[in-house]
Amino acid sequence: MARPDESVVHGSKAQAHQPDAPRSAPDTPATPKDLPAVDRLLRQPDVAALIAEHGHTLVARESRALLDEARALALAGTLALSAVAPDALAGQLAQRVNARLAPRLCTVLNLTGTVIHTNLGRALLPEAALAHVQAMMAGPNNLEYDLGSGGRGDRDSIIEGLLCELTGAEAATVVNNNAAAVLLTLAALAHGREVIVSRGELVEIGGAFRMPDVMESAGAKLVEVGTTNRTHPHDYERAITERTALLMKVHTSNYAVQGFTSAVTEAELAPIAARHQLPLATDLGSGSLIDLTAYGLPAEPTPQQMLAAGCGVVTFSGDKLLGGPQAGLIVGSKELVGRIRKFPMKRALRMSKLPLAALEATLRLYLRPERLTQDVPTLRLLTRPAADLRALAEQLRPAVTQAVAPRFTVEVVDLLGQIGSGSLPVERLPSAGLAIAPTGGKKGAGRALDELAAALRALPRPVIGRIADDRLLLDLRGLEQPVQLTEQLSLLQAALA
Ligand SMILES: *Cc1c(COP(=O)(O)O)cnc(C)c1O
Repeated sequence: MARPDESVVHGSKAQAHQPDAPRSAPDTPATPKDLPAVDRLLRQPDVAALIAEHGHTLVARESRALLDEARALALAGTLALSAVAPDALAGQLAQRVNARLAPRLCTVLNLTGTVIHTNLGRALLPEAALAHVQAMMAGPNNLEYDLGSGGRGDRDSIIEGLLCELTGAEAATVVNNNAAAVLLTLAALAHGREVIVSRGELVEIGGAFRMPDVMESAGAKLVEVGTTNRTHPHDYERAITERTALLMKVHTSNYAVQGFTSAVTEAELAPIAARHQLPLATDLGSGSLIDLTAYGLPAEPTPQQMLAAGCGVVTFSGDKLLGGPQAGLIVGSKELVGRIRKFPMKRALRMSKLPLAALEATLRLYLRPERLTQDVPTLRLLTRPAADLRALAEQLRPAVTQAVAPRFTVEVVDLLGQIGSGSLPVERLPSAGLAIAPTGGKKGAGRALDELAAALRALPRPVIGRIADDRLLLDLRGLEQPVQLTEQLSLLQAALA
């Protein structure tokens, strides 16, 4: 559109150019004088429509930025006159405004083979949790209000009973994430005193979470015992002094010490702690609430087992194997959880109502264990049979082949995925998917694969695979709705053409 101003712009030979795509094949170059003033651009009907939709502030700001960029290009002589036509400018402006409003956080297809992928948002929320979050956030709720008495309530009370029922704990509380749960536990129980940990368990989780640093932040003094590969009960026993506040176990979730090793289990450590009247805490990291071996998955210690073994406090994540929102769950004895809950730092680390709603809904699903592998996406994905994934790969192969031909060929392959997020690092999940290889052979294969990976990431719903052995692998365990891939294949084809 842009009729009224068009004549003006044209008349003043202001057929300028569009700033964002200016470098391509310039026709007659535009000069800064060809560009309209901001006011004039804003009065164009197309632009007025943009203002009606989004308001003056954003549209005016983007107009100024657009014209500034165009001016710089015109001065450099790289702006085509056709690009400063009113229609062209209005189109550019609409694109800029829409781009500014598009969220940077977007959904992707996780075809990496790692189910709980920390870089890709970890656990997917169950339907029930999504619905509950939406319902609870849309209006006021009883987050800290006791509907029975009409007085002030405690947000912990929303999940405490459930968590106790599911884990067998006497008491429970929650914070923002498991790193916060560990920090708070250490600060509340061991500030200014010593915590005994095995050298083989001084983990770094990633994202600057290292057990020795967390100890320091919590104001606790770390006392390392044993060696990297072997720690014995007497190592703990000998390190206990009157300054000791806590014995701590850390689940080595993202690595495995193999070979000549020996670690002291919680069950062995509990009597030692009890004899010295010290609490024993364990940080599980993942902490599945169910026995995964029942589904053919590798064993992972549960909070239930750790409490039964005599731990006074157990911490674990909400968005790893539990399959809920980001959260740090702390379960244990009334006395210890009470001290943790009352510690002032708790207020700073407390969970917001948003994940709390998601956590409650997720935990309630655990009251129906028979349905968990349907209702909790993380467990549903982890238990998809490899044969189903292979059948899906066979089904998708022709369409994917068509999209990437002739530069690439596609094969159906058996793959090994993993649970992820530090859970069971050495155990692999038998899976299946597509392997896409450049047709040109080894030479230039690296660049061709990088281009393919970039094209997949540039799709409206970016597709994230992994490159291994000169092939791009798409593990289909994470693809529950194949149409989310197939509907984008024509765009992929265009991008590779
Ligand atoms: C993942 C993990 C944490 C941190 O949990 P977040 O929920 O990511 O904060 C702490 N300890 C262990 C052993 C872990 O595996």
